[in-house]
Amino acid sequence: MNSYPIARVVLDVPLDEAFDYLAPDATPEDIGRRVRVPFGRRQAVGVLVELSDRSDLPPAKLKAITHIFRDTPPLSAADLKLLRFCADYYHHPLGEVALNSLPTRLRQSGEQNLPSRRRYQLTLAGQALDPAQLPSRAGVQRKLLALLREKSAAYREEIADLAASAPLALKQFLDQGWVEEQTELPDIARPAGEPPALPSLSPAQQAAVQAVRGAGPAYRVWLLHGITGSGKTEVYLRLIADALEAGRQALVLVPEINLTPQLEERIRRRFPGRALVSLHSGLNDTERVHHWLLAQAGRADIVLGTRLSVFTPLPRLGLIVVDEEHDGSYKQQDGLRYSARDVAVVRANQRGVPIVLGSATPSLESWHNAQTGRYTLLELPERAAENAVLPAVHLVDTRHHKPDHGFTPPLLKALAARLERGEQSLVFINRRGFAPVLLCSACGWAAPCHRCATRLVVHLRERILRCHHCGHEERIPLACPACGNADLVTVGHGTQRVEETLTAHFPEARILRVDRDSTRRKHALRDMLDQVHGGETDILVGTQMLAKGHDFPLLTLVGILDADGALYSSDFRASERLFSQLMQVAGRAGRAGAGGEVLIQTGFPEHPLYAAIQRHNYAAFAAALLDERRVARFPPFCHQALLRAEAPSLASALDFLQQAMNAAKRLDYPVEIYDPVPAQMARLAGKERAHLLVQADARKPLQAFLARWMAVLRGDKQQKVRWSLDVDPLEF
Ligand code: ADP
Ligand code: ZN
Ligand code: ZN
Repeated sequence: MNSYPIARVVLDVPLDEAFDYLAPDATPEDIGRRVRVPFGRRQAVGVLVELSDRSDLPPAKLKAITHIFRDTPPLSAADLKLLRFCADYYHHPLGEVALNSLPTRLRQSGEQNLPSRRRYQLTLAGQALDPAQLPSRAGVQRKLLALLREKSAAYREEIADLAASAPLALKQFLDQGWVEEQTELPDIARPAGEPPALPSLSPAQQAAVQAVRGAGPAYRVWLLHGITGSGKTEVYLRLIADALEAGRQALVLVPEINLTPQLEERIRRRFPGRALVSLHSGLNDTERVHHWLLAQAGRADIVLGTRLSVFTPLPRLGLIVVDEEHDGSYKQQDGLRYSARDVAVVRANQRGVPIVLGSATPSLESWHNAQTGRYTLLELPERAAENAVLPAVHLVDTRHHKPDHGFTPPLLKALAARLERGEQSLVFINRRGFAPVLLCSACGWAAPCHRCATRLVVHLRERILRCHHCGHEERIPLACPACGNADLVTVGHGTQRVEETLTAHFPEARILRVDRDSTRRKHALRDMLDQVHGGETDILVGTQMLAKGHDFPLLTLVGILDADGALYSSDFRASERLFSQLMQVAGRAGRAGAGGEVLIQTGFPEHPLYAAIQRHNYAAFAAALLDERRVARFPPFCHQALLRAEAPSLASALDFLQQAMNAAKRLDYPVEIYDPVPAQMARLAGKERAHLLVQADARKPLQAFLARWMAVLRGDKQQKVRWSLDVDPLEF
């Protein structure tokens, strides 16, 4: 009697189609629900995206849905719409997009094991029960009945509190059919207490908050440009308060899990009584699904998360904030290569809510959008805290001041002065292309990764060589494998080497190294940051990890070792990245009252990038870079997509791309199609990689072209090459 016997289900498989199943008892309320279906010889979890009364398959070939998961709510039409957008825009199968947006627990086909709290309520029979019918000595049973009459439902813990034998009485009630069990999603702790006294906003903060408030709850993209310490977070907090006040949920995206603890603390303290959940890779599967379900149920008021949380279902969504919007980690670098920032903007548009993109150094794409009026610019030109001034930036010319083990005399002198005064310093190393490698002093052999086209990095403490691309590890050899020479030297300044050099110069100093290796252990970073805040550290040595977001009130000096590598890179985004990174690190100095100083060691002190950093002038540098990009027709003045291929041999990767290029040209769209080239890191984990760039002046023709082109490439089932499409690529 069902008018919808066919369910269309998408699965986590690289096929761009939905599969038809018989679903006699499915109803329209099941659209968006997870289902378990037979697929090939296994059972798979998918999402039911559509009901229909017909299928192209003959009825005999249709299999039936095994199970519809009705214990959790379905994805809403709005959720599905966002997933569909991503599938279309990134030309990726909807099933993979949808399933990957779910927490792991919800992707598994076995026992779900969701976090739940059990509660009990009387059945009709239980309600009709007359206490006099209970045995005269059953005092506990009578108490239980009274409790369940008084409350519509009681939790297991409340029942256990009645008496030692209450759980037994409960079991008897269940057996009699007087009580039924329900499960519900447990709540999360909401901090009690008073909200802290709010700082009075600076005029610029006030203007920013007023502008967003004045525009009302509709879709609009705000680009909040404010130097580090200018009080962007305070602006977010006011806007979040507005959204909560209006009964809406706020989604706050941050680039890295390391940035979440501080911000999480700050938001929690600000909104006592509100439910804040975090979503990032530091959570275990149970926490993750719990937080996700609370958000979906509308019970979480604020969701704070990294990249993937942009897909979290939020029925009451009222505001999106993307902090450090320029950060490269918003872009996923495998599978569905989406940009969480861009998806967030689309989501805000679909849901008709405002979105705030914040940064001290906005991406040129966003800055360009603000210049052309698509986004609305909000500026915080000064530091918020009283007395906080921008640090003075000085360049140390390494052609005159020769570095010894990475340090020039002026930098060593500045460090010594800080130690003398009991102030903190930060020595910043750009990890990229800057790790120590093992060299043979006789023949020039440099320890290579046999799987990648890279050099292995020396990790002295663990006595190993590690590949930072594929993770391969091996022991440090005792002699050169090429010539037998036993004099192997380590060159380059990794964080460990820098730490050792500093220890040699300042034996009394308390030095703390913060990098991927030293922070592997859970909570390691948090413990380290506590140490820094407690004044137990004199010199911090670190990588990018330290550059962002952290507040170090005692820090007055930042030393930057050889940043030059990126100045003359073949990657057209390298100087944009270097600029933003240096602005971020420089921003660590002198956050509080003490005036800070930044020393940049460089062999190119006349480079305009450094001049812009010295003047803290983002706008001028951005304008210069945008001019360059306009002339060269690079993004944001064109739109790009990269077809990536990888194969055991470079020839077969290039051969595939050559054929793809020929097919592309035959389609005859107004797009430019470049020749296939090997990737910058041509070999990775034993695979050769190459790519093919296509670009167009406008998104529309590019998208139309990509849709056709992908259909052609997917149609050819003979390929032995692994390929993928990267729309709006950031790395080549
Ligand atoms: P950002 O997010 O731009 O780096 P924050 O919001 O973290 O800046 O603010 C930097 C510092 O200034 C913080 O210590 C914050 O408490 C303080 N602050 C922010 N706004 C104000 C204000 N209006 N008055 C006084 N202090 C402020
Ligand atoms: Zn050798
Ligand atoms: Zn490797």
